[in-house]
Amino acid sequence: MDTHPVAAVGGPAAAASRPVPAPARKSVLHDMEQTRLAIEMIGLGARLQVLEAEVSLPRERLTRLYKELCGTSPPKGMLPFSTDWFLSWRPNAHASMLLGAYRFMIRAGLDGIRATLAGFRMYREHLSATGEAAQLSFTRAWMLVRFYERGMLQLARCQCCRGEFVVCAHDARQRYTCGLCLPPARAGKCRKPGPAGA
Ligand SMILES: [Zn+2]
Repeated sequence: MDTHPVAAVGGPAAAASRPVPAPARKSVLHDMEQTRLAIEMIGLGARLQVLEAEVSLPRERLTRLYKELCGTSPPKGMLPFSTDWFLSWRPNAHASMLLGAYRFMIRAGLDGIRATLAGFRMYREHLSATGEAAQLSFTRAWMLVRFYERGMLQLARCQCCRGEFVVCAHDARQRYTCGLCLPPARAGKCRKPGPAGA
């Protein structure tokens, strides 16, 4: 008979005799607060990866919460990770607006995900007032803030309109003119004519 206790290592009995690790000691209130944050983010369309990065709840609970609220499983696949998207003409105007709102919230005393959430709401409210379609999803907005905070994107002041616009960190110029003051020739021409002339 093999009495080597390998099978018991890490099993329920071993776990019970060990001191409870710190994450398990989190209070009910903390849990509720994190659940509320997750609900708020899911309501704005946050992807699962974004939830995992910002909410200290187990992945399994976040997935269940997502399914309950959205009625579907969270979409798979990677997050949009490129900084280039924020630099093309129309997204750039929206990204610049969002980053302005985010920075306003930081100055107002919010931080981290709270500033991102409030900034995103402000961006959406501004768009609903003008009737323009949103270019940035919440996940895009979250990525943008991350790129900005990591110094991969930054803001430059346009020498014509004095507005601040998102630029690539390696592309910061002394004399910058924004895409609204100097639109590229193809600006706004999103659709190519179809082969059948449709
Ligand atoms: Zn300008």
